[in-house]
Amino acid sequence: MKAAVVRTFGEPLVVEERPDPEPGPGQVRVRVEACGLCHTDIHAAHGDWPVKPNPPFVPSHEGVGLVELGAGVTHLSVGQRVAMPWLGHACGRCEHCLSGWETLCEQQINTGYGCDGGYAEKMLAWADFAQPVPDGVSALDAAPLTCAGVTTYKALKVAGVRPAQLVAVSGVGGLGHLAVQYAKIAGARVAAIDVTDDKLELAAELGADILIDARTQDVGQELKRYGGAHAAIALAVNEAAFEAVASGLRRGGKLVMVALPAQGTVRVPIFDTVLGGTSVIGSIVGTRLDLAEVFQLHAEGRTRVIRESRPLSSVNESIDEVLRGQVKARIVFDLAEGG
Ligand code: NAD
Ligand code: ZN
Ligand code: ZN
Repeated sequence: MKAAVVRTFGEPLVVEERPDPEPGPGQVRVRVEACGLCHTDIHAAHGDWPVKPNPPFVPSHEGVGLVELGAGVTHLSVGQRVAMPWLGHACGRCEHCLSGWETLCEQQINTGYGCDGGYAEKMLAWADFAQPVPDGVSALDAAPLTCAGVTTYKALKVAGVRPAQLVAVSGVGGLGHLAVQYAKIAGARVAAIDVTDDKLELAAELGADILIDARTQDVGQELKRYGGAHAAIALAVNEAAFEAVASGLRRGGKLVMVALPAQGTVRVPIFDTVLGGTSVIGSIVGTRLDLAEVFQLHAEGRTRVIRESRPLSSVNESIDEVLRGQVKARIVFDLAEGG
């Protein structure tokens, strides 16, 4: 099978032939149809974060495909479409797993990071964490929903967004274009913030009510003109953007940190935080139930995935385009086309 492999941090990925992986106990092998390029794959390939993957490895936690085989697995059938999210495995026994916070499990294994991911014609998955994709959701749409979708859906849940609130979405990329839609579904008014005209136009197309260009406008001041944001979802891979959007919170507002810039640190003003009663919350992907809900919303026709499909062989150029901010929302590698 063909796979795109990170051999050395910071070097281009190598597209190479590998033997088909053999599933272990509780695993299935999946023939990958599509997989999305999340900005996290770039952080992984660059070794950006304190906890690093071990090269050589195959990135991607937005793989979607058809179950091929898996001895002893009874709840999935051969040919069934499944998605392989970042949460590749969790222990199922710890405090976090038992309290509905499996995304915080300390024993978790992350797809495309701690085990090989979707930039390959075939991949393995723990059957209990391979999420069934409902009929009517294509593999190309399911791929971005598997991380960008579930992550932003969960970020809005942890912010407790309610109708009539103002939600600021900072960064309208792969994650942000879905965040705008989930915030609208929650009934909120949405302020979308970005630094490119294309992204701001896209946000407007997807229902954003207020557009803020962080190149030319003061994000905090603009948000305050509308009374300040009840929730600010930080999705831009830029430390300064976290502080900018946080400065536009209203009293009692919540900053939800989602983006993961390398070595990121944010300065939180103590006085404003105390007197304003604001919160800073970290949010990491979502649970299997969150992902099932994301797929359900899409199957009901309530979300739109903006994507461009490409062959896997374009992986290195595609990464460069994401870094230059030239991709409209999400790149999805189409492996069903034999790319
Ligand atoms: P992306 O590159 O598709 O989107 C980033 C967007 O931010 C782009 O539209 C870009 O134009 C915009 N931007 C850049 N500078 C800005 C600024 N100063 N102000 C406002 N917008 C700005 O990336 P993505 O795939 O959406 O991922 C975003 C981040 O989220 C990455 O760091 C990724 O690793 C992280 N992530 C976190 C989780 C999680 O569970 N916490 C899950 C997935 C991704
Ligand atoms: Zn991701
Ligand atoms: Zn656990």
